[in-house]
Amino acid sequence: MADIATELLQPPEHIPAGFASLSQGVFHASTILFPDVASFLTRQEQAGVGYSYGQNGTPTHYALMEKLAQLEGGGHAVLVPSGLAAITLVSSCVLSHGDHVLLPAAVYGPTVDVTRELFGKWGVRCSTYPNDAGVGIAQFFEPRTRLVWVESPASNSLEMQDVPAIAAAARAHGALVAMDNTWATPLGFRPLDHGVDFSIQALTKYVGGHSDLLMGSVAVRDADRYRQLRDTAELLGYYVSPDECFLALRGLPTLALRLERHYASALKLAQALEGHPALASLHYPPLPSDPGHALWQRDFKLGSGLLSFTLRKRELAAVEKFVAALRYFRLGNSWGAVHSLVAVSPLRAPQQGWLVRLHVGLEDADDLMNDVLQALAGLTQ
Ligand SMILES: *Cc1c(COP(=O)(O)O)cnc(C)c1O
Repeated sequence: MADIATELLQPPEHIPAGFASLSQGVFHASTILFPDVASFLTRQEQAGVGYSYGQNGTPTHYALMEKLAQLEGGGHAVLVPSGLAAITLVSSCVLSHGDHVLLPAAVYGPTVDVTRELFGKWGVRCSTYPNDAGVGIAQFFEPRTRLVWVESPASNSLEMQDVPAIAAAARAHGALVAMDNTWATPLGFRPLDHGVDFSIQALTKYVGGHSDLLMGSVAVRDADRYRQLRDTAELLGYYVSPDECFLALRGLPTLALRLERHYASALKLAQALEGHPALASLHYPPLPSDPGHALWQRDFKLGSGLLSFTLRKRELAAVEKFVAALRYFRLGNSWGAVHSLVAVSPLRAPQQGWLVRLHVGLEDADDLMNDVLQALAGLTQ
């Protein structure tokens, strides 16, 4: 009989036969055990399909990856520690010294920063193209253009892009297309069905949905590309904890229901804000008066809860007064979760004023609409 210290160190028994549950078990592991030396020596062949090391995935990771691939309309999904890590994973995977990247003029800010500052340092060049380029993207290609980013609608300004046209032009040029699809999720728009090579999501937003987790995903159709992404994520040491996978898995069953509600409430609010005397502009593609509406109508199945506007009063004091008067929209970054949020950012030049971004949460739609209207009323008196 071994000493109790040794007994307590023996691995626990595995899941008892006959146990079934609706919940995904959470498996924690750095070390994965092998039955013999032969399987230990060939463990790299298991990376991305089976079990070789905790970093490559546990049953909890694979359960989430499978569900996300389903959500994206098929293929494979890789998990990374944040939405931003999904962006850097794609760039790390496909870019080499001397390559050129095209970014839309309006895009998630850190996408520009990391492309310029980090990949720029490693000999990658980037330039911007107008969000409304469509097929006209062709004139911006250079011989070494390897990657084109699209984000539709764009962060903050919510400008729409003709993604299928851009993807077709990029393909003709031999460039790859990566789309940040966080706003719509694949329930609203499936990038991989429209010629996009890499579909990325900040799972932090709608999939997580409860403001308590950071995670990102990159989905692809091509099995070789999936391998390359997995290998790159492994080289970078990108790892996601099974506890967070569990939270993301918990978000998925209610994703469709939440998104429908975010969308319906945001549309109601946007309709109430149309033509409001305190506003200089309003951005929400599902609204027929939005300049991107035709593209949205053509390509998207569903809207979402994020809209933005600028105030007629351009001074910071007006934004401060508006935000302070809100009752249900709390001031904070991120979005996509159950609570309503407000965020503000300066427009390109300070004298142009401020952009207000609202994430419409799951509170009662009329309460939210009345809250914004009463806060705006304070600006027109
Ligand atoms: C939030 C966000 C990201 C980054 O996600 P994190 O998980 O916060 O890193 C990327 N793209 C868009 C459009 C986002 O809104």
